[in-house]
Amino acid sequence: MGQQMVIILKQGAENQKVQNLISYFKEKGLNINYSEGAHTTIIGVVGDTSKLDIEAISAIDIVGSVKRVSEPYKIANRKFHQDDTLVEVNDLKIGAGHFGIIAGPCSVESYEQIVGVAKRVQKAGAKFLRGGAFKPRSSPYAFRGLKAEGIELLLAAKKETGMPIVSELTSLSFIDLFSEVDVIQVGARNMQNFDMLTELGRCDKPILLKRGLSSTIEELLMSAEYILSGGNKNVILCERGIRTFETATRNTLDISAIPVLKQFTHLPVIVDPSHASGISSLVSPLAKTAVVAGADGLIIEVHPNPEKALCDGAQSITPDQFDKVMDDIKALCEFENKKI
Ligand code: PEP
Ligand code: MN
Repeated sequence: MGQQMVIILKQGAENQKVQNLISYFKEKGLNINYSEGAHTTIIGVVGDTSKLDIEAISAIDIVGSVKRVSEPYKIANRKFHQDDTLVEVNDLKIGAGHFGIIAGPCSVESYEQIVGVAKRVQKAGAKFLRGGAFKPRSSPYAFRGLKAEGIELLLAAKKETGMPIVSELTSLSFIDLFSEVDVIQVGARNMQNFDMLTELGRCDKPILLKRGLSSTIEELLMSAEYILSGGNKNVILCERGIRTFETATRNTLDISAIPVLKQFTHLPVIVDPSHASGISSLVSPLAKTAVVAGADGLIIEVHPNPEKALCDGAQSITPDQFDKVMDDIKALCEFENKKI
């Protein structure tokens, strides 16, 4: 496939001329990604553009400028879509200046646990409730989640609090259980499960896509591209730490990935300080750093009794500790001019 092309239109370009230009590309067998932003309107031309004459296109009166795009991700590329993407669930927003916080336990364990945590994190200002019902575990002998019952308990917590729920889908075979889950999480281990990504591209729910343990930023964006190219434009990216030689922390939080992603893509980027560090005392400093680095939100593991947690207790903070983190995050969001 040749390089892609973006055509930035002049302001006030006449609609008929824009349509003619689009038809011209379509007749050549090229695909169009049209994006009308607040300040700029862009025609992204996807396919083999090698035979197009850049000079001739630049000379068309409605065309402001033409650029070739060499990155393999297109719909995710900020060059194709300059304005930030806003992901909305009911009236809750993440991205485009809105800071969204997802909090809750690693795994759903009981009614009391999930509803209790939900009420506490909601009171502190979290917008979304997380909770794993299907857990990808390194050991087949570890607790692998309450599965269907876990989803039921999440729905009970949603009913009780009104909070939208976020839960991880570990296999497409469970997707029917997720019909009332508001945001589907694709975990680090499934970031390159391309069949799952393809299927999620056809669904109408926002997808929280976590970066793979040893995936590059470009690979993360290509995984997002799988979902976007299926028609689902609601993708939230998550930096959750990567594998490095360092052993003091569970993973290494790639802070640079936040501003890099914000430059490369219009999609919202959130940070998971819990899995990035694996250590509860590091959750607060990493969460604060994420705000200042330009993140659009956070996902934080909160458990009423971390010592007794069935999964990821060492990195889980208590509701009291979460209250304090939220105070700091609110102050930093004000400083960064983000709505929370
Ligand atoms: C989780 O969110 O509990 C989880 C398993 O995350 P990750 O896929 O980032 O390891
Ligand atoms: Mn976890």
